Parts: sequence; structure tokens; C-alpha cells
Amino acid sequence: MTSRFFRDDGRHFKNEFEDYSPATADNIVDINKNDIHDEFKETLKEKIIIMLNHLNNNKKQWINQDDSSIYTGNTGIAYLYYFYGTRFNEETYIKRALELIDRQDSSRSKRDITFLIGEAGRLALGAVIFKSLNDEAQSESMITKLLALFNNATKSSYDELLYGRAGYLYALLFVNKHIPNSIDDDVIKKIIYSMLTTGKAYAKSRKYSTPLMYIWHDSEYLGGAHGLAGILYILLQARQYLTQEQLKNDIEPSIDYLVSLKYPTGNFPSSVGGSSDKLVHWCHGAPSMTMLFALAHEVFARQDYLEIAKDCGEVVWCRGLLKKGSGICHGVSGNAYTFLCLYQKTKELKHLYRACKFAEWCFDYEKHQARIPDRPYSLFEGLAGIIYYLIDLTVPSSAKFPGYDL
Ligand SMILES: [Zn+2]
Repeated sequence: MTSRFFRDDGRHFKNEFEDYSPATADNIVDINKNDIHDEFKETLKEKIIIMLNHLNNNKKQWINQDDSSIYTGNTGIAYLYYFYGTRFNEETYIKRALELIDRQDSSRSKRDITFLIGEAGRLALGAVIFKSLNDEAQSESMITKLLALFNNATKSSYDELLYGRAGYLYALLFVNKHIPNSIDDDVIKKIIYSMLTTGKAYAKSRKYSTPLMYIWHDSEYLGGAHGLAGILYILLQARQYLTQEQLKNDIEPSIDYLVSLKYPTGNFPSSVGGSSDKLVHWCHGAPSMTMLFALAHEVFARQDYLEIAKDCGEVVWCRGLLKKGSGICHGVSGNAYTFLCLYQKTKELKHLYRACKFAEWCFDYEKHQARIPDRPYSLFEGLAGIIYYLIDLTVPSSAKFPGYDL
């Protein structure tokens, strides 16, 4: 019998992996420790080193004067190097990260305000890396430059994560998390106020039942990268700066509006009015919804939200081995974060096992992609993202989707 979560959208391979049972999980997850099995952890480490060497040996292919973004550019590789260096205590990698960050860039995205696409990402990550190396002056200088983007952020026409205010808010929250009290509450509150004001005005102009709605390039997107879910997820993570009224009157009913649009398969449309249940990516579809609904369950103490998050997990298990490839944004490694999120929330080993099986799939990423991505070594479309995921999987309880989870 086909599961209700399955749909042949023509974009994914059939998932031939056996699902979790204590027998299939042998040497993959450790039932006694409720963690990854040591043997699988060793395999992960071997694969990480092989892939990292491959990335390093192809520097000429990915080093790019024109792109300093985290998404496809040098700062994305810097983020991976920093992550690897801190996780495995290899300071040379932290220094390599800094070299990439420190490069004087002439990026056309210099004025862009977001963590993933813009200069804000380079400044936020740079501030954190300099601080970790006790270079206070450089760290502070980067924070000052990040704050100087505030006016551009308030003037931006967009609120979504990749190009809009949510992406600037993420950069501020990222810095504040790693360097406590480095950003004034007032700055963060003003950005949030702007996001809520534009969302309310737009929803009202369209006479929607949701208190918040946004538009990006003529579409009312719903997913993590460009849409409502991404904006709501960043706002929920910034809840300490929101009032109870804002959470109850603006955020929760907007999440309920998303629920009303859910497909019977458990997946979500990529935009309002969309009816083709095709995309199961972090950028559009179930994976980024998982994180939103899992957190909403915690914040609003609503069991129905957790059930929706779990359904997203089933969708990703059935339809998440994408032909498009294994990258973070619209590929298998990004989809695998769905399972890590559910494992963190429920502590159920089934989800951790699934995260490991998707990692196994990524070991052979070159075999499993129908076409080579535009930026095959980058953090969000290519190899660097796959490595980032594998490193994150070595400590599954603290894994965080880069640029989305704080
Ligand atoms: Zn994508």
C-alpha cells in the first residue's frame, strides 16, 4: 500500500532504504545511547575528510572575486571551514576561514542586507570568527559595518530571508547569539516592527484572513527561503523581542493560515494559489516547515503543530531524495535537516536513523544528481553544504540548518 505521504512528482528517486527498526539501525544508531553509533560516526569523519580534501584541491573552481555570499560564494566556504575548525579543534581551518572573510571584495552584493546573500553575512560571520580568535577590534569593526546596513534594511522592499529584512534580522541575531549583548535590543525591535508593519499592511490590502502576508517578485511565497514560513520562523526565534500580543495576534494566526493551505500529502504549496504538489526542498516545501512547526509547538504548546512537523518528516522520507542533487537549499542534505529537527524535538531514533540514511545517500552525491548545480562547490548548492551537513550530523543534538536555525 502506498503511504498517504507519497506522491510521484517526477523530481525524486524512490526511497529504497528500509525504514527504521532496531535491526536495520544496527551500527547506525546506538539504541542504548540514543545517539549515532560510534561506527557510523567514524564513517562520517572519514567521508568528511575525503570530501573536504576534494573541496580544497578544487579551490580554483570555487574561489570567486565576484561572490562573497554565504549562499554561493567565498563566505559560504569560510563558514564551512570555521565550522570544521571549531568542531574538530583545527585552528588552521579557522584561520583559513578568516582569510576568505578578510579578502577585500568588490562584490556587487556589497550593499545587500541579508545573511545568506548579502554583505551582512560576511560581516556577521567575520565578527564572530574574529571574536573567537580574541581580535576584539576587528570583530567590533565588523559589527559597526553590519549596523551601518540598518538604513538599507529598513528601506528594503522585501521581508523574506534571502533578500529581505528577515535575512538582516538573522544576521543580527546570529551575532548577538555568539557575542552576547553586541546588538542593541532597539535595533532588533525596529527591524521586527518594520517586518510586522509591512506584513500586516499587505495582508490587509489583499483582504486575507492571515494577519501577515508578504510578496516577493510578484508571488506570495510560503517556504523557507522566500516566503511566509521563513519570515515567521526567524520572528519566532526572535520571540524575546516580541510582545505576547504580537505572538498571539500576529504570529500564531499566520501559522494557522499556513496550516489551512497544507496539501493532503502533508507537503505545502510554494506560494498562495499554488496547486502543484511538486517541491520538497528547504527553499520551497515541507523541510523548512518542519522547523517552523516544531518550534511553534514549543512556543504555543500546541500538539497539532508537532503532528504537522512529523507529517513533514514523512513527506521528506518518501519524496526527499531529489534528482536535483544533494545540496542544502534544494537537495538531499538540506532535506535531511528535517529529520535532525524531529530527532531533537522527539528524541525518537527513527528520525536520527533517517538522517543517517540520507547522509549515506550524500556520500555518493555525484552518482545521484541528474545535473551539476550552477555552483557545485558552494555552501547552499554544492559540496560545501553536503560536508557541512555531515559535520553537523556528528553531534545531532546540536545540529542547526545554516542561515535558518539560530
Ligand atoms: Zn533552493
